[in-house]
Amino acid sequence: MEENKQSLTEDEVKNRIVGLRAKNDRGDTILSDCATVHIGRSADVYSWQGPFAPEEKCHKCGKTTRLALVVKEQCGSKTLVYVSNLYGNEPDAFWPHDAVAVAIYFCIDVACAKATAIWNQA
Ligand SMILES: [Zn+2]
Repeated sequence: MEENKQSLTEDEVKNRIVGLRAKNDRGDTILSDCATVHIGRSADVYSWQGPFAPEEKCHKCGKTTRLALVVKEQCGSKTLVYVSNLYGNEPDAFWPHDAVAVAIYFCIDVACAKATAIWNQA
């Protein structure tokens, strides 16, 4: 089996700052540079709570998924935009209230191949 090749080393990916484009509740496009992307099994520690599990149950078919990557907001600045700023907290609609970490898993069943997301917040 051929080993997967990456154009960046894991450390380069860990240190790379990515822009997160989104719109706030007024429809303005906003750009945050406080989210980092971490790829692979070692990404499990980029959580605001305990480490993400290496495997989760697929939300679609119930079979096994494997951790692919984690996006974590962690800039610590009040001036930058977080996902929690995208919408107001309404009485009947949930939305995160603090910085989030989102782990993306891919189902190993070829007939499914769906993504499952597990997240937590600071
Ligand atoms: Zn599945």
